[in-house]
Amino acid sequence: MLRHHFTAWTFAVVTGVAIIVASCSESATSPISTEFTVTDSGYSSFDTIRLRNRLRGYAASSISDSELRALKFVREEEKLVHDLYVDFSARYNKLIFMNIAQSELTHANAVLQLLQRYQIADPSQGIGPGVFADTMLQQLYTRLQTIGTSDLVSALLVSAEAEEMDLRDLSYWSARVDNQDILMVFSNLAKGSRNHLRAFVRNLAQVGIRYSPRVLDQATYDAIISTPVERGG
Ligand code: ZN
Ligand code: ZN
Repeated sequence: MLRHHFTAWTFAVVTGVAIIVASCSESATSPISTEFTVTDSGYSSFDTIRLRNRLRGYAASSISDSELRALKFVREEEKLVHDLYVDFSARYNKLIFMNIAQSELTHANAVLQLLQRYQIADPSQGIGPGVFADTMLQQLYTRLQTIGTSDLVSALLVSAEAEEMDLRDLSYWSARVDNQDILMVFSNLAKGSRNHLRAFVRNLAQVGIRYSPRVLDQATYDAIISTPVERGG
């Protein structure tokens, strides 16, 4: 049953079929009307239609080579975390993986909207779960997925690590982008990743594990973990 559910999600990621994602089940969505909503537990979603409308409000601008590479990379990296959490969700009876996988699907689709806006070929088009055009991302997925198969704590640890990588990479690419529509989406993706990192660290604490940052510097990590869930808007 669960697998069938996720097959549909994965299908949507691969094909880029636009779907409006319902809020996650744990709590109500933010009352603020926005293209990016966050639940009380920190699970965020882009609303496909609202995002499309918001993007229409930005003046068309040309795209640089680094912006093109940024969009392709981030599209695949959001697919990577989605595929990873779908895999973990099928292995472990832990709601966090399903909830965050749903968030990641909307994140990957938000980047797909940008790719379509700039008429850039989607690197994830026709590619199945756990498969990536970018060699580095392929190696990363294989490493994280392999570690995460050993037990639940390992899966939670590599999930927190994956969110840290997301944040590092979004920061790297955001510094190489100046189109405002791309920056708007990337800043929301980073907000989502900070909330996901908080959620994985919280889940680790619940099983007695104190997470230490593996990618971000300690000060950056502490600033995220010591602050509450960031809402939409
Ligand atoms: Zn994401
Ligand atoms: Zn995430």
